[in-house]
Amino acid sequence: MRVDRARCVGTGLCAATAPDDLALGEDGRARARHPVSAPGEQLTEAAEMCPVEAITVLSALDGRRIAPVL
Ligand code: SF4
Repeated sequence: MRVDRARCVGTGLCAATAPDDLALGEDGRARARHPVSAPGEQLTEAAEMCPVEAITVLSALDGRRIAPVL
């Protein structure tokens, strides 16, 4: 998963949706809790709901984008 922190506007939606994988940093922008996360339902939902598409979930196997689906 990648978080584009420059794009994040700090809504907190992702951290509320996938609290095991995402949190807000001291600057109020989202950050990944772990270097690698399993692309579970909560994480893909968080990527789908981000209003500025700052979260990208990628397959560790082949780099394919899993979410958001464009
Ligand atoms: S949902 Fe998007 S804009 Fe909101 S805190 Fe998460 S990454 Fe930032």
